[in-house]
Amino acid sequence: MIIVSACLAGVNCKYDGGNNLNPRIKDMVARGLALPVCPEQLGGDPTPREPVELSGRSGEDVLDGRGRAVTNTGRDKTDSFIRGAHEVLKIARLVNAEYAILKERSPSCGSGLIYDGTFTGRRCKGHGVTAALLERHGIKVYSEEEDYPFSRRP
Ligand code: SF4
Repeated sequence: MIIVSACLAGVNCKYDGGNNLNPRIKDMVARGLALPVCPEQLGGDPTPREPVELSGRSGEDVLDGRGRAVTNTGRDKTDSFIRGAHEVLKIARLVNAEYAILKERSPSCGSGLIYDGTFTGRRCKGHGVTAALLERHGIKVYSEEEDYPFSRRP
């Protein structure tokens, strides 16, 4: 089983109440190959919600107490982001997931790029909080923008 960001499967869990539908991901879910999860909802945050960026350089910094997850109005969401990441890890272990395909540039799900914490649209290299936790526990994280090998129809 592969863990995927729920918004990529068309679930309206994005901060603005929308989704990031990706037909290949939706098809994997429909075929029973992938399980959709949203770490920010699993952490207890509502939808819609304020956008969040990471004030540290990466999700690893947030996990290690060197960075915070903060909304555009300054609310600290660090605890709920870490809680959601651990819930996703729990689900991944339940279904013996070895891989995840997560939404690029999200402060939770990004695996290559995230926004830099200034809310100016600038990006930097780094993991989101959930992507960082999954990688730490041996679950390989791909972005939906990569050519992930197991997405092709047999
Ligand atoms: Fe999508 Fe991840 Fe953001 Fe949830 S936390 S809306 S799954 S990118």
